[in-house]
Amino acid sequence: MVHAVSAEGLLREHGLRVTPQRQAILQLLLDEEGHHWSAEQVRARLLPTMPGLARGTIYKVLEELVRAGLCEELPTPDNLALYGLRLTPHHHFVCTSCGRWFDVEAQGAETLTMVLGPADARVDDVAIVFRGRCHDCQAS
Ligand SMILES: [Zn+2]
Ligand SMILES: [Zn+2]
Repeated sequence: MVHAVSAEGLLREHGLRVTPQRQAILQLLLDEEGHHWSAEQVRARLLPTMPGLARGTIYKVLEELVRAGLCEELPTPDNLALYGLRLTPHHHFVCTSCGRWFDVEAQGAETLTMVLGPADARVDDVAIVFRGRCHDCQAS
């Protein structure tokens, strides 16, 4: 999916001041939508163009993007969170063999919230994780 919006525009829209670091990290997520990145992977990709980019800065920016509602933070078994773009609601499929996360369209989730929400609770968001083996891993 191609977004007409720029990283700069999205930051402003979500009340974040535009800094080179925020812009570069968000742009990377926009360019490769559907990927879910560890902070270390983000760093490896951006270091050639931003040699001064510190690990701590990347974590800080990613957390700011999560708080602003632009990004999602996904837990992993080794406690290294993965970060992905979240401009539209979606669910995930995680491959138990290679550990990759894939976005899954959110269709049908509304029905589940009606059935599974606890009494008197108002459900704002549903996160479903499907587990299995991805296409590549089934082939090998
Ligand atoms: Zn796989
Ligand atoms: Zn995702």
